[in-house]
Amino acid sequence: MQLTVLGCSAGIGGARRTTSLLLDEDILIDAGSGAGDLSLEQMARVDHVFLTHAHLDHSGFLPLLADATAFIRKRPLLAYALDETIAALKAHMFNGALWPDYTVKPSIEDPYVRFVRIKHGVPVMLGERRIVPLPVCHSIPAAGYCMDSGNARFAFSADTTHCDAFWDALNEMDNLRYLMVEVTLRNADASEASGHMSAKLLAKGLDRLTKNVELFITHLEPGKEELVMDEVLEVCNSFSPVRLHQGQRFVF
Ligand SMILES: [Zn+2]
Ligand SMILES: [Zn+2]
Repeated sequence: MQLTVLGCSAGIGGARRTTSLLLDEDILIDAGSGAGDLSLEQMARVDHVFLTHAHLDHSGFLPLLADATAFIRKRPLLAYALDETIAALKAHMFNGALWPDYTVKPSIEDPYVRFVRIKHGVPVMLGERRIVPLPVCHSIPAAGYCMDSGNARFAFSADTTHCDAFWDALNEMDNLRYLMVEVTLRNADASEASGHMSAKLLAKGLDRLTKNVELFITHLEPGKEELVMDEVLEVCNSFSPVRLHQGQRFVF
């Protein structure tokens, strides 16, 4: 499997793009503003979008994506999400008020977007590729993802604060090679109630981790990236954390 980082910021501004990861050519993990950098041809090759949660920085480009490629695509774009995420997006995004409701247009039988329900821990198989939603603890219901090529696994925390269940799920994985974790906030700005991670909360999780992984940090707060990253390097140095960059590519 090949994973390309299209966006990995917690917000916009200049070259910053919000979360979107291209997995091979046909899968997106989240549809933040990074997805808007794909060419029309690349967008048309995407058949599956796995959403972590409903927040706009992760879902906002889904309706635009469906629209941009509708004239090329021959089948619905499948959007995988938790029940709560589907309910939120149907109530507030796909309702005909802000944009055409492409979950029922151009027809209910053959819409541009079709939601597929996922559950924490229940794998979705796409050929040999296995994608497993992971439990996380955010301000709204959310799922991380483990992407398993058969050779190695790549885990992504989505948005979360410290969450025992997430770290316990990682400890049960064989062949876990890459771990991409959000650290949005500085220690002084964060608490578990914020729904996000700080360096200290990441350290608490890494204390629980029993695996050796290559650790990448994502979703840094715009304008405070270096301050947050300095704190991460200070407390999690033994894991050699690396700041994730747009355009970065992983093969596993
Ligand atoms: Zn976010
Ligand atoms: Zn969020």
